[in-house]
Amino acid sequence: MPAPPHPSHSAERFTGDLTAPPPIPPAALAAAQALMRDGALFRYGEQGGAENAAAALEAEFAESLGARYCVAVNSGGSALFLALKAAGIGPGDRVLINAFTLAPAVSAIVHVGAQPVLVDITPDLVVDTEDLRARAPDAQALLLSYMRGHLPDMDAVMAAAGDIPIVEDCAHATGATWAGRPIGRFGVAGCFSAQGYKHLNAGEGGFIVTDDADLAARAILMSGSYMLYAQHRARPEQRVLARWAPHMPNFSMRMTGLAAALLRPQIAELPARVDRWRGIHARVAAELAAVPDLRLPTSAPGAAPAPTSLQFTLDRPGAQIAAFLDRAAAQGVAIKWFGRPEAVGFTSRPDHWAYAAQPTPPTAARILANLCDIRLPLALTDADAALIGRIVARAAGV
Ligand SMILES: *Cc1c(COP(=O)(O)O)cnc(C)c1O
Repeated sequence: MPAPPHPSHSAERFTGDLTAPPPIPPAALAAAQALMRDGALFRYGEQGGAENAAAALEAEFAESLGARYCVAVNSGGSALFLALKAAGIGPGDRVLINAFTLAPAVSAIVHVGAQPVLVDITPDLVVDTEDLRARAPDAQALLLSYMRGHLPDMDAVMAAAGDIPIVEDCAHATGATWAGRPIGRFGVAGCFSAQGYKHLNAGEGGFIVTDDADLAARAILMSGSYMLYAQHRARPEQRVLARWAPHMPNFSMRMTGLAAALLRPQIAELPARVDRWRGIHARVAAELAAVPDLRLPTSAPGAAPAPTSLQFTLDRPGAQIAAFLDRAAAQGVAIKWFGRPEAVGFTSRPDHWAYAAQPTPPTAARILANLCDIRLPLALTDADAALIGRIVARAAGV
């Protein structure tokens, strides 16, 4: 057993803000201001607009992922909805989704009129490939959600899904890779979020990337391009868009030029952000290794996640977890808990989604009851990260 902590150490307190979103870089502020001065906040112009920040952003984001096409939209949830819809998913279809995910992912399936079907997870918080293999033959698609950035063995997932299309929910996996290949490039479409708490912050925003020309054309048109789709740069040939144009409804889910202006410099910064987040995560995790009944999820050898938060399970009854959370909170570290009876903030779980009408799979129910979650703002220093880790370990009784 480690020696009892020195009294002055046990009184350590974190005084920073664990809810701070990534700051907007100065170049983005300047670009946004210039755009506001012009008033060109809408991404299309009746006479040109190809130089608009949104079209440039799409081309840059596509390039960063090695994708042919990219559509920028107004949220991650919209990206998921449009990707499923553009992949031809609709009423009567059953769409598999791993049970550890966020409400907007399940809701995107509901939005296209399909039935979500929950697939169980493993203690490493990723989709259970055995359960996936068993359910895939009765489903029309898989919405694979890398919730909190945890990456499954992608080879095993692709094999288990068989030939149903996969739409990837990369809202927590922007900048992550599997065996060197970017997450978001495994399925028919990869969907990303630029909501304030994600890797790229425009307050609201989202992306769809794909190599499928028809899917891209349908998504561009349904995102609300009017007949101005030629102003996109990361787009299929005009004749593909023209062929689909009369058949696609306009759902007006466009990204604004302003959001795009805020995001362009952040794309360039993304690799450095991901490195920094990995460092913060490793520093906190190192302190937690001392807690015997605390389990950190492990990732498969090919996985290079891009964490923006840290999860662990604590093998204790609920009342003891609640007391642990209170002790950590008293030292300034707010920890979220998926086991709370009521949904709080972002921590909802399958039994809170009555609209999905799905029972919680057994392993997911057991794991979520004990699952704790700490946000890791980009601005944390190494000293902050170590302090947070020590506070959590002490609150857990080390
Ligand atoms: C944030 C998030 C989304 C949706 O993103 P919004 O931009 O908030 O709509 C989808 N899936 C997961 C796992 C997320 O964390």
